[in-house]
Amino acid sequence: MKVKSKISVGINNSGDNNIAMNFINGEFVNSSSNNFLPIINPSNGEQIGIVPLSNSDDLNSTVTSAKSAFKSWSQIPIKERAQVFFRYKNLLEKNINDLAELIHEENGKVMSEAIAEIEKAIELTEFACALPQFVVGEILEVSKGVECRIDKFPIGVVASIVPFNFPSMVPHWTIPNAIVLGNTMILKPSQQVPLSSLRIAELLKEAELPKGVFNIVQGANEVVDAICSHPEIEGITFVGSTRVAKIVYKKATSNLKRALCLGGAKNHLFVLPDANVEMASTNIAASMSGCAGQRCMAASAIVAVGNVDNIISQLCAEVKKFIPGKNLGAVISREAKDRIENYISEAEKNGAKILVDGRNIKVEGNENGFYVGPTVIDFVQPEMKIAADEVFGPVIAIMRTKNIDDAISIQQKSEYGNAASVYTQDGGVANYIMQNVSAGMVGVNIGVPVPREPFSFGGWNSSKFGVGDITGKSSIEFFTKLKKTTVKWNPVNKSNWMN
Ligand code: NAD
Repeated sequence: MKVKSKISVGINNSGDNNIAMNFINGEFVNSSSNNFLPIINPSNGEQIGIVPLSNSDDLNSTVTSAKSAFKSWSQIPIKERAQVFFRYKNLLEKNINDLAELIHEENGKVMSEAIAEIEKAIELTEFACALPQFVVGEILEVSKGVECRIDKFPIGVVASIVPFNFPSMVPHWTIPNAIVLGNTMILKPSQQVPLSSLRIAELLKEAELPKGVFNIVQGANEVVDAICSHPEIEGITFVGSTRVAKIVYKKATSNLKRALCLGGAKNHLFVLPDANVEMASTNIAASMSGCAGQRCMAASAIVAVGNVDNIISQLCAEVKKFIPGKNLGAVISREAKDRIENYISEAEKNGAKILVDGRNIKVEGNENGFYVGPTVIDFVQPEMKIAADEVFGPVIAIMRTKNIDDAISIQQKSEYGNAASVYTQDGGVANYIMQNVSAGMVGVNIGVPVPREPFSFGGWNSSKFGVGDITGKSSIEFFTKLKKTTVKWNPVNKSNWMN
């Protein structure tokens, strides 16, 4: 049976199925693998295509392409490399609706969220266009007549392994910066959402990016393993769960590669009695429900300090405005829906109180879609699984504390450290909490404290392995290596040991 999809680019539809292709040396090509996984539209549970599980042969051709393109691409001045991304940014803007529809189809998020995802991809591309202004080198006369200068060089072929939750935005954390800085890239999309990457490849080609500079290899574990051990890949960025971030970080670094691996999250929001009720309740509802809770920056735990019952009851009213199938999208798979619902049931069994229950949701007309409604759970104890684990759904666990230090210590004990935020009107208290939480991205009266460009993105603890952040100015360190050149032209002055 032929299945329908909105995508026509990068798809082999000559047989019975739509097969997502690899993109190597500027062309869409079939994987040599005979193993495939279905691509499922989460909104209705229907299959829209299949994705090959590429193998090391596929990877070898991809690396050959990227390696050979590196020779010429790295020689082009950065200002010229950036020009490709000015054109690409215009193409993203022109095609924003098509790109968003594809995200909606393969990921299940609602159209407004998919559009916001492309808007963020555009902002990331804009930053890359400005990179020539950021990478100006350094020069100093270090001794009389002797100059030392530092230049930044690209590192070579880099690979970027990405998760399902932002099929376009997360790839744009690395593609524009890595490439403008002179590297060539291999993208390994999530096998659950392989389609958006194909349109990215098409638009980069239309923006006249030379062949081989950007490549895609579809697949899952096997090809990631091959990436981690390929001798000609110099650097690997990974974004996904902590479990896999650890595997990739260990394999990549044991093979002497540069690696930066972002993992999962459990983000705590501190709510104090003096918080602005409307701002806190609407922000928290949006933070926990947006993208069906499948954001690494989503609010997933509230630490309520003192009596904030009025804010919690307003939060319950606000989350009910997120209607599955309307302004609340589906979660990625049947397994994800079951996992999230099991967490809720287990918390209930262990004595927590479900204030708003999103289990067993059916959306009329899309009965086979994977929907979970927003869920608010009160009186959660810090030892419960729902308090500690990343649930990755539209669920918030409320823990009650009597004082600020107890609240901070709950957050500090978390395995993760991506984001934290505080709701209060008291600047001193906000400052105290923000200084003491163990998280890389913190906010005051902000539900999703994502630092926008040029500020960099990255958490602490088991939310990130490696040095530096993945975006913004910090990414320059990852994607370049420094050459230090010392020059002497005038040997006349003999006043110093260097002469
Ligand atoms: P995942 O870890 O299952 O998969 C991520 C990537 O790793 C995919 O490309 C997948 O094919 C590959 N992979 C999976 N298992 C593997 C294995 N055993 N060996 C080698 N490769 C493997 O993550 P996901 O389910 O796609 O995404 C959700 C996770 O991503 C959540 O934990 C979320 O918090 C995290 N995430 C983190 C950030 C961040 O900035 N820290 C951003 C987005 C998503």
